[in-house]
Amino acid sequence: MIDILASSNVDVLSDFARSNTLLAFDYDGTLAPIVDDPDDAEMRPRTKALLTAVAALYPVTIISGRAQADVSRRLRGVGVSSVIGNHGIESWHRAGRSGADVQRWLPAISAAAAPLKGVVVEDKVFSVAVHYRASREKKSAKAAILRAAAAISGVRVIPGKQVVNILPLDAPHKGIALERERRRLACDTAVYVGDDTTDEDVFSLDQPGRLLCIRVGSSRSSAAAYAIANQRAIDGLLSTLAACRRSVGLPKRVSS
Ligand SMILES: [Mg+2]
Repeated sequence: MIDILASSNVDVLSDFARSNTLLAFDYDGTLAPIVDDPDDAEMRPRTKALLTAVAALYPVTIISGRAQADVSRRLRGVGVSSVIGNHGIESWHRAGRSGADVQRWLPAISAAAAPLKGVVVEDKVFSVAVHYRASREKKSAKAAILRAAAAISGVRVIPGKQVVNILPLDAPHKGIALERERRRLACDTAVYVGDDTTDEDVFSLDQPGRLLCIRVGSSRSSAAAYAIANQRAIDGLLSTLAACRRSVGLPKRVSS
C-alpha cells in the first residue's frame, strides 16, 4: 500500500481538498486508539482538536460499528455533519427495523458465550458484537462464537479485530452508508479512512478519482489503495487535510 502522507502524495490529498469532498472516518482504531475495554475508547485531545478544525473546513461524517448514540456521545463538541452507527444501519434504515432480528439471535449467541471467560456480548439493537479481547483463549473463543453465529439463519458474520460482528444479511453496509451520505450532503467526491474488516465494504467500492480510500495500517489483503502507518498517524493526516484546504480555499458550495 502507498503511504498517503509521503511527500510525493500530497497532490493526491490536495486534489480531493480542492473538490467538493466529504471526509468520512471510522471511529475505533481510526480516530481513537483501540483499548482493552471498548467503553474506554476516546480520541486523544490533539486528535479531537484536529478533527474539530477539519470539521469546520469540510463536511465530515463518522461511520462506526458502534450504536449511533454511543459514537455520537464520543464526538460531542466536534461539529461533524453526521454520525452513522451499526456499520451503516443506523439511522438510514432505523425506521424500518425493529431490532427484532437481534432479539431472535441473542439467546443462542449468549448461550454460546456464557461459558467463555472474558467474552462480552454487546447488544447494539440492530446488530451484535461479540468481543473476545479480554479472553485468554482467543482462538477457541473466536471459533465457538463463529460456530454459534453460523447456526443462525439470515445473518452476515464479519470477524474484526478481536470481535465478531453479527448483522442482518440484508442490512446496508458502510459502503452504502457512505454513498448515501455523500449524495445527501451534495458532495462530488469522498475520502474514507478505516482500519478493519467492515471498512473493506467502503474500500471495495472502487471509484478511482471520486473516492480516496485510506487504511490505518498497511494490509496486503485490503482493497484500499492508500494507508497511514498506524493509528497515531491520524493526527498527521488530519492536519494535512486542514492545511490542504486552507491553501486551496473552500469549494464554492461551502464558502457561499
Ligand atoms: Mg475500526
